[in-house]
Amino acid sequence: MARIVQKYGGTSVGDVERIKKVAERVKLTRDDGNEVVVVVSARSGVTNELIARAKAISDAPSEREMDMLLAVGEQETIALTAMALHALGVPAVSFTGAQAGILTNDAHTRAKIQTITPKQIEEALKQDKVVIVAGFQGINAAGQLTTLGRGGSDLTAIALAAPLKADKCEIYTDVDGVYTADPRIVKTAQKIDEISYDEMLELASSGSKVMQSRSVEFAKKYGVVFEVRSSFNHNPGTIVKEEVSYMEKVVVRGVAVDKDQAKVTVSNIADKPGSAAKVFRALADANVIVDMIVQNVGRNGVANLSFTVPQVDSKKAQQTLAPVLVEIGGGNVTIQEDIAKLSVVGVGMKTHSGVAATLFQTLADANVNIDMITTSEIKISVVISSERVDEAARIAHKVFGLDA
Ligand code: ADP
Ligand code: ASP
Ligand code: MG
Repeated sequence: MARIVQKYGGTSVGDVERIKKVAERVKLTRDDGNEVVVVVSARSGVTNELIARAKAISDAPSEREMDMLLAVGEQETIALTAMALHALGVPAVSFTGAQAGILTNDAHTRAKIQTITPKQIEEALKQDKVVIVAGFQGINAAGQLTTLGRGGSDLTAIALAAPLKADKCEIYTDVDGVYTADPRIVKTAQKIDEISYDEMLELASSGSKVMQSRSVEFAKKYGVVFEVRSSFNHNPGTIVKEEVSYMEKVVVRGVAVDKDQAKVTVSNIADKPGSAAKVFRALADANVIVDMIVQNVGRNGVANLSFTVPQVDSKKAQQTLAPVLVEIGGGNVTIQEDIAKLSVVGVGMKTHSGVAATLFQTLADANVNIDMITTSEIKISVVISSERVDEAARIAHKVFGLDA
């Protein structure tokens, strides 16, 4: 007997028929003699719909109330999934994040998990029940409902697998696994059999939405090996685990595209110690996550600073910086949303040179202008025009030998 955590994403529980299919799959796993804990997302589109309704009422809805609203999506699917299991004669019980013992900090809409005490889950498993847990939600110390950031059901599943000492953690989605690129953008993308936490993390944080990046961070920290696979077939998926030496043989494991970034340029600010510190302190205090940063050489006592932020935060960044610029003696802020980030990722870059040169030359040959560049040990990212980014991803995919 094994203990298995299975997470089903939005498309997999997209309607009643699909929820019934999930229940059948869960039943199969249980009939094999396993203990099963199921984490479900909201039906696909529901979370977006709820956000749209909130925005139709207010530009800046209360974050506490946003969490109250967004948690609704997952509460629908846990109950329906439990009912679908009952209909198959399988004893099952649904739990909210709070009932599952997921305690978070106070950061509404992007809360971090602090501790998990899955007492009710353990008791239900002991009673031979399948446990269904609402993904994406928790509770803070003050008893308020919180949510874990978009895509957070992945985190719920991975975070539960650790204290439950699960033998397996399976992330069921609408693709066969992690591919060398988003198959919706790059038709020639190939399924990857095994990938290291670090590569998965870089892909996820560079826009590959197949896994929430925080969930991968968590998996790495606690050594949770997980498999990403399809809920629509029984094909083997992608195993995400600690790096092993043969992984370095592949120079580029995958390509990622992020179209949800905006470029902020702060121009004509005083070129003196402390200006950048004030700009980024203010953004950090406003919870705006800054990604790529470029500062040009100061001239005539003024400097320009460009950086990327999530597009949803671009207005907030602009508003936050207005008073800061007054304080540091002037400057302007401009926002550009027609940009996108293209990244190539692979642990093999640690031991192979020339990846950056090849990427830049390839983009140059295609007449794609590079706006910003950043690198890490295993990743190279460029900011380019959002209009050209899909095409650039396809070209890079081919050049690095990922097409087949
Ligand atoms: P779920 O609702 O199951 O969590 P998501 O929509 O969050 O599913 O993630 C699955 C989607 O991620 C796929 O349909 C695919 O278009 C997209 N995706 C982006 N990059 C990749 C990649 N490298 N490999 C696989 N899927 C990817
Ligand atoms: N329903 C949430 C979202 O759409 C969480 C998830 O699906 O993982 O972001
Ligand atoms: Mg997802």
